[in-house]
Amino acid sequence: MRCKAAIVPQMGGDIIVEEVELDEPGYREVRIKIMTCTICHSDIHALLGEHGAYEGPGIAGHEIAGVVDKCGGGVTYVRPGDRVLCTEVRAGCGQCEPCLKGHPWFCENIPPMSFRVPSPYSRLDGTRVTQTCSGASGFAEYTNAHEAMLVKLDDDIPFEIGSALACGFMSGFGAVLNRCQIKPGESFVVVGAGGVGLSAIMGAKLSGANPVIAVDTMDVKLEAAKKFGATHTVNPKMCDAVAEVKRITRGYGCDHSLVAVAARGVKRTAFDMTAGWGQVTIVGHQLPENEGLGDINAVELLFGKRLTGSVMGAVNLRRDIPAYMDMYRRGMIDIDALLSNRFPLGEIKAALDDSLHGALKNVVTIHD
Ligand SMILES: [Zn+2]
Ligand SMILES: [Zn+2]
Repeated sequence: MRCKAAIVPQMGGDIIVEEVELDEPGYREVRIKIMTCTICHSDIHALLGEHGAYEGPGIAGHEIAGVVDKCGGGVTYVRPGDRVLCTEVRAGCGQCEPCLKGHPWFCENIPPMSFRVPSPYSRLDGTRVTQTCSGASGFAEYTNAHEAMLVKLDDDIPFEIGSALACGFMSGFGAVLNRCQIKPGESFVVVGAGGVGLSAIMGAKLSGANPVIAVDTMDVKLEAAKKFGATHTVNPKMCDAVAEVKRITRGYGCDHSLVAVAARGVKRTAFDMTAGWGQVTIVGHQLPENEGLGDINAVELLFGKRLTGSVMGAVNLRRDIPAYMDMYRRGMIDIDALLSNRFPLGEIKAALDDSLHGALKNVVTIHD
């Protein structure tokens, strides 16, 4: 079908909206009429080639909510007309050994997350567009996606909330619930107070963490962190952040730390903010070649300090997202407060620019 999509004609170039041709959905794929796509910083990194170079035109957008428009062969989870969110995470098959052991990320029967792959979109001159950061693309009127990427959206959950749940929120909130597993009264520090970090703060508050410390170089983000439940804020531009976190935690460092930015050198800082028995969880990341852990000495781990990571909140998709929808409905998590400004697809350049200048999470509204 022909539809509008926002593409960058060359990696790192300006984004433009134009008519493209979208292939028919393949086996176990559905076509989604996109209602909203929220902007994640990963979209910006991906379009700039910072998540890996790609040739020719690129398309992004991976926090997708919409309505199933058409099902390809073999689809059993949804029917046309179903409201869904579409994410990079796959629901596992539930039958292979990794799935049965509770690790659907390692499912052997569902295609893995894929980036910088030929998309089902072509420009009208026939050039294939590269899908830069997901197996679907949200900066378009329609997209195709494998049905394992979908979660049905309850009727009372707005599309833009579904979009926000599809990546940034789960990456922070899920990491705290699934990886940190904080006990009430344990201390928590998050380095980076963007959309992921603020969602992590919501998870820490809900888990009973105390204190909850936010570290960021932007005061506007630290102010937001306080609104979401941070008890203390630290700006590394103004002080020795490690010393300050230790001061707040009576010299020990935190029971839990979470790295929610991609900046280099931050992982060592978070490690140093963590108590000798604590756990460091890495969420923000760069290209693999930039991700050495510097001078962390293995002996530092001998006394029980733990170093781990979490991608997309380590969620079990169709177990966790329905739970998050329920928490939202009951007012336990304030996802509305994460959303900043709304832009139509035609103004996506302004939406991306605004995201680079402190907006927490902008919404691209595609269909009304
Ligand atoms: Zn994302
Ligand atoms: Zn499986």
